[in-house]
Amino acid sequence: MPDPVRPSPMSPTPVESESDGAPVGIPSAARRGLPPPPPVEVTEELLHALPKTDLHCHLDGSLRIATLLELAEKGGVRLPADNPEGLARAIHMGQVCDNLEDYLTAFDITLSVLQTEEGLYRAAHELALDAASENVRYLEVRYSPVLHEQKGLKLTAIIESVLEGLRVAKRETGIKGGVIICGIRNQDPQTSLRLAELSVAYKNKGVKGFDLAGAEYNFPAKDHKAAFQLILNNNVNCTCHAGEAYGPESIAQALHYNGAHRIGHGTRLREDGDLLNYVNDHRIPLEVCLSSNVQTRAVEGIGAHPLKFYFDYGLRVTVNTDNRLITDTTVTKELWLAHRHLGFSLEDLCTVLVSGFKSAFLPFREKADLLEEVNREIAEVVARFHQVESIAARTA
Ligand SMILES: [Zn+2]
Repeated sequence: MPDPVRPSPMSPTPVESESDGAPVGIPSAARRGLPPPPPVEVTEELLHALPKTDLHCHLDGSLRIATLLELAEKGGVRLPADNPEGLARAIHMGQVCDNLEDYLTAFDITLSVLQTEEGLYRAAHELALDAASENVRYLEVRYSPVLHEQKGLKLTAIIESVLEGLRVAKRETGIKGGVIICGIRNQDPQTSLRLAELSVAYKNKGVKGFDLAGAEYNFPAKDHKAAFQLILNNNVNCTCHAGEAYGPESIAQALHYNGAHRIGHGTRLREDGDLLNYVNDHRIPLEVCLSSNVQTRAVEGIGAHPLKFYFDYGLRVTVNTDNRLITDTTVTKELWLAHRHLGFSLEDLCTVLVSGFKSAFLPFREKADLLEEVNREIAEVVARFHQVESIAARTA
């Protein structure tokens, strides 16, 4: 519960919306003295057509199930099942787990086929193609290269294979993005430092930032301060999983010890009103993953998720997949859940989409250009769907 002497996040003071003062796809008509934007029904087709980001997406949790089976057969890797249905059960695909640790056991299975350059290239390439096919324009793929050394692959090969997969997908579809390298909470902090060095070496060569992932409970972020210090000293972007399987203290550590520029999840931020205001005041983006939070029991069901409260309070929130395979999701699906279960309107969702682009680990000028393009496109897509609706209404 929030401390009663602290500013209570449960009674937000009216704040300017995230969209205020910044370009958004649906201009705020009231602000500009224009007639209101045409009302358009929110459908999965419309959400699919809108330009999107996926800023929190794990490579080893997002490969295609058919690819998992094929790579295992090719490499002589034994999986718990040799058919998609059995394998889906073994990796808890879309099922509610006991907790985050239980959820993470699925990664031992996916990682077993991601120990070759071919496997890594294919996973990255197909992931970017899948994201592009639902109109994700900017994708940050995260993974921890040290988990791919089981068969002796060198770290440079582990990075290069994934970058090549993303480069080819970009040539084919135009999808932009890059890699976030993850340190692991439940591993030796020296390993995180090694991964931070790798992130620095690949800065401006496809690596967009650094993260800390893994089991949160009992593995404090501050133990990995040295890795983050190296990252910050080299002006590399960083994010940190926090407030998913532990309370707001974990988020405070991610921000104040490790200097995180974004927070992965932040689900339990609502428990500390003071910290919530700090995150809001500093426009620190939250990488929210609704279905994954339900699956790891970070929340008791989608209706209990704080995303809409955060949004209404003015926080910069983004919507992401976390793990497309293990959580059985897409960004379109996550946005649809936000609409159906949390009451996000089309204008709200467009603001969230724009927040995704604003929060990308991109140089400012590049980001400004992308935002301009995306805003134009959001307006065009909404107008197109409005036209279709009007024609349907006239011919009904
Ligand atoms: Zn994650």
